[in-house]
Amino acid sequence: MSFNSLGLSDALLKAINKKGYDKPSPIQEKAIPPILEGKDVLASAQTGTGKTAGFTLPLLQILSEGTTKRNRPVRALILTPTRELAAQIFENVKEYSEFLDIRSAVIFGGVNQRPQAAQIKRGVDVLVATPGRLLDLCNQNILSLASVEIFVLDEADRMLDMGFVRDIERIIKLIPKKRQNLMFSATFSKDIKKLATGILTHPVYVEATPENTTVEVIHQKVFRVAKAKKTGLIIKLISDGNWQQVLVFTRTKHGANNLTKKMISSGITAAAIHGNKSQGARTKALEGFKNGSIRVMVATDIAARGLDIPLLPHVINFEIPNISEDYVHRIGRTGRAGASGEAISLVSADETSFLNDIQKLIGMKIPIEVIEGFEPDPNASTEPVKQNQGRSRSRSPKANAGGNKSGNKNSSKGGTANSGRRSRDRRN
Ligand code: ADP
Ligand code: MG
Repeated sequence: MSFNSLGLSDALLKAINKKGYDKPSPIQEKAIPPILEGKDVLASAQTGTGKTAGFTLPLLQILSEGTTKRNRPVRALILTPTRELAAQIFENVKEYSEFLDIRSAVIFGGVNQRPQAAQIKRGVDVLVATPGRLLDLCNQNILSLASVEIFVLDEADRMLDMGFVRDIERIIKLIPKKRQNLMFSATFSKDIKKLATGILTHPVYVEATPENTTVEVIHQKVFRVAKAKKTGLIIKLISDGNWQQVLVFTRTKHGANNLTKKMISSGITAAAIHGNKSQGARTKALEGFKNGSIRVMVATDIAARGLDIPLLPHVINFEIPNISEDYVHRIGRTGRAGASGEAISLVSADETSFLNDIQKLIGMKIPIEVIEGFEPDPNASTEPVKQNQGRSRSRSPKANAGGNKSGNKNSSKGGTANSGRRSRDRRN
């Protein structure tokens, strides 16, 4: 299968060629034809499989075949959960539309709205946006969505996780009923199906990988380790392996900052990326990470969501996620575009039940190793840490590190061990 045979215009083929793509990825191959036919499409494929081009290319084709109104109202709206993702999609839209008469813009919060408003005023065919700023601009009558023909919901699963459902509903009220809807997601859950039912009309469903599975080229490994020795172990792994580009995940912003400081004091260039960082700081960190001046980027789940970091050889979960789907997203940062990658998880006793949940979700047991000098603490409790209390260290002499959840019932801190397990601070 070639891009030629998908029915894309010469202008788009030229741009694709310039990007250096040889052939469409599986999800592109499946999603592009029904989108070009004008159908609503619900697509799911793992992170890093080229979903952006999967909707952007046909969208641009449709817009360029239609009529351009003189005042250039927004004809395609691409909604995405984070600023970084919005900026990235916008970059892609610009690249793919280089040889077309299409104008695009990106809007997101955290920066001055004036330049965004000015740009909208000049006319924009394709608008990439995060929900908050979009609604802000609509409410101020700076932006009208009355001419939207194509509505794209990217990273739909993460939109749900971040609590954007109400915002999405509000936005949908502002766009015409008659429109083409495209929904893209890395995972496919009941909640996604429910959301899709409310938005899409007779959608074509396409998927490129079985839902919630991880690809085999990602070599997964678990190091069982005492919580107090995690920092030492991660520094040892990165130093001994001489790894030059490592993405590290922590569960909290505080944890990300802390670990970053410790990395830097051990002589490893590192930067943290999370919701409390300014947009400028986040962009700078990501740039440094991409150009190699920063070896380690420490991120929370939401901040890292959808970031396009090509050919990332190492992903380390400093803490494994309490939401199993996040594990799939995290390790999707490695082994991209067919290259192999390594995903390492440092797991302490209190994370045992999270590990069990993850293994259940991905349908496999992750090989476990222990490094001499960094052994797990045999006396540590297997009771899960409560969400957003990453520093608490509950110990119970009765518990063992072997992995049963019985410790949960004897919580000495009161409150159930699982409370808040599915909750997440949306500003992570
Ligand atoms: P997703 O949204 O599925 O996570 P992206 O759209 O961010 O994935 O694409 C991941 C990477 O793959 C990007 O660097 C993109 O440029 C690249 N890519 C996309 N399509 C192709 C293709 N057909 N051939 C090679 N690389 C591709
Ligand atoms: Mg994407």
